[in-house]
Amino acid sequence: MPVSAPPGRRSRAARALALLSFAALWTTACSAPAGGTPGADPTAAPPLPGPEDGANGPGAENGGAPEEGGAPAEDGSTPPGDGPLGDRVVVIDPGHNGGNASAPSEINTQVSVGNGEKACDTVGAQSVNGYPEHEFNWELSLLVQERLEADGATVILTREDNGSVGPCIDERAEIGNENEADAALSIHADGGPESGRGFHVITPGEVPGLTEEIVEPSALLAEDIRREYLEGSDVPYADYLAEEGLDERTDLGGLNLSTVPKVFLEAGNMRNAEDAELLEDPEWREHAADAIARGLATYLMRE
Ligand SMILES: [Zn+2]
Repeated sequence: MPVSAPPGRRSRAARALALLSFAALWTTACSAPAGGTPGADPTAAPPLPGPEDGANGPGAENGGAPEEGGAPAEDGSTPPGDGPLGDRVVVIDPGHNGGNASAPSEINTQVSVGNGEKACDTVGAQSVNGYPEHEFNWELSLLVQERLEADGATVILTREDNGSVGPCIDERAEIGNENEADAALSIHADGGPESGRGFHVITPGEVPGLTEEIVEPSALLAEDIRREYLEGSDVPYADYLAEEGLDERTDLGGLNLSTVPKVFLEAGNMRNAEDAELLEDPEWREHAADAIARGLATYLMRE
């Protein structure tokens, strides 16, 4: 009997998962009752991650057909505040920025990461075929934003475009803090060894005086994203670092300085040809975004 696994938490998570699998059967009418009691029966508010739920119907993912025309968030999006994720705030941090390479002095400025100093930001990785990580991070982040907003969540990005510089890693953390995000996710892709492939989720380790409050909820957030991403992305756990797709670190300012639950997703290894082929594929990114949004939604439904 694993003493460390609280049975209550287990069953809540299992329930949320069951709800997610039924999500496609529900409509947006199935939101929480007006004036709903906090902590009431969670079946009252099933999450509906994935904008395709409304537009293409439950069977769409089996046929895999109408993907490219689908931006239902444009017209039929749920206004913030409505929908199953209506009272939730999510900060998505697309790692690096397209202008960083042209501003070395700015991005090399040292900033505090809580237990030391690091460069404000870096240029990021690049795929074997020359696809820059900052562009991948940006494109995937927008897709995740679209999905969460379709379910009513308020989503804040840490940068406005992919042609600017920064912001520095400490500011990226601050954006989550200032907005009192329920969850924050930093999206990256790794520049690992060519022979290694796979994804991993980085969680904050305990840094005295800084991360104590977020270690546990961030680990839950990581679990939810890891599970959904493994299932939905076709990318395996990283085989060149981390352990079963999880890596705890205490050297990242973006995590050390966060006061809200936060993890990094390293969505794949850009230097590996097999991973790069997926990361560069716009259709794959749609599925990856579905999976990430499902992971976030599962976490947001836990409370
Ligand atoms: Zn990165």
